[in-house]
Amino acid sequence: MIYFDNSATTACLPEAARLAEQYMLEGYFNPAAAYAPAVRLEKDVSRAREAISAQLGAHANELFFTSCGTESNNTALLGGLGAMRGKGRVIVSAVEHPSVYEAAVFLREQGYDVVFAPVTPEGCLDLEQLAGLLTPETQLVSCMHVNNETGAVNDIAAVRALMKRVSPNALLHVDGVQAFMKLDPVPCDLYSVSGHKLHAPKGVGALYIRSGVRVRPYLIGGGQESGMRSGTTNVPSIMAFSAAVADYAEHRTEYNSNMLAVKKRLYSDLSSLRDVRLNGPEPEKSAPHILNMSFMGVRGEVLLNALSEKGLMVSTGSACAAHKRGRNRILNAMGITGERQDGAIRFSFSHYNTEAEADTAAQMIADQVALLRRFRRR
Ligand code: PLP
Repeated sequence: MIYFDNSATTACLPEAARLAEQYMLEGYFNPAAAYAPAVRLEKDVSRAREAISAQLGAHANELFFTSCGTESNNTALLGGLGAMRGKGRVIVSAVEHPSVYEAAVFLREQGYDVVFAPVTPEGCLDLEQLAGLLTPETQLVSCMHVNNETGAVNDIAAVRALMKRVSPNALLHVDGVQAFMKLDPVPCDLYSVSGHKLHAPKGVGALYIRSGVRVRPYLIGGGQESGMRSGTTNVPSIMAFSAAVADYAEHRTEYNSNMLAVKKRLYSDLSSLRDVRLNGPEPEKSAPHILNMSFMGVRGEVLLNALSEKGLMVSTGSACAAHKRGRNRILNAMGITGERQDGAIRFSFSHYNTEAEADTAAQMIADQVALLRRFRRR
């Protein structure tokens, strides 16, 4: 099997899985308990917090473990605004993941003045348009670091600079789920990450909250995570997350250049086919692990199923939207519609992929596209 759907989720790093197993079978205590083995676990979690926050250029007390990227995003938006007075303007880019986008829709229903900021044809936040939307009443701006469908990278420093001028008191939230470890950290108030996009198990994420920023807790109870996120600490997954981050940090340059090489190879192989289009920035100008291309005259989901039968796993967009019928909100926002939208496929890579896999995949795609186009013409 060739797995090119790493933006949906990644294979767990074997060392991370083994570590999680060890904590489940032997270090299973509740770290809030008072006896010595439990106290040791609390220290292990502190070390994991330090190691992960360091990769964000943050202090350990600015990092709060959550159950996933969705929870981190929801907490950032709902909790960040929940700690403020009044209901002002909230600006969210039009291409955000549903865990931000739908939270913004919810906020609109609660009476906030929610605006969806347009993106360029390549899928990056349009900074000129953003400048026109910012007001002194703006309370929060949420802009993803890397788009999960196109790999488009946003200039967060520029967003921050614009905000400083017009909306100095507004919070800047960045969904970093697809960017963490692949790109350098960016200056912001809130940054979301998720373990399973980075070879940790599913069910663990984190939210960076810049020191001094107030966020109303989303889960209330026993006061874990310094009161920010109640619920018994998920020690096995947190330790595995830390192991996966440590491995990535050690091999970062190699992993990132490996993924970029696979992406460029697949792009170059597929570019030789007739009637294909790139959706998003050129491969060198986007995140190293995501490539989105349209095969004109072919329906993306039909191609996806044909490729899956041959052992190549890809997607037509965000896994969370895979079962929703109808139009692709992200491509729509980029002005990509009709046949080009229908024929879009996302390829996403990990460092486990190889250029040989890219060549094999390209051949499979060429064969299936030719076949499907023949059927369509009849
Ligand atoms: N944000 C982005 C950009 C994502 O790609 C995803 C997952 O696909 C999420 C948030 C949600 O993360 P999780 O699956 O950990 O809830």
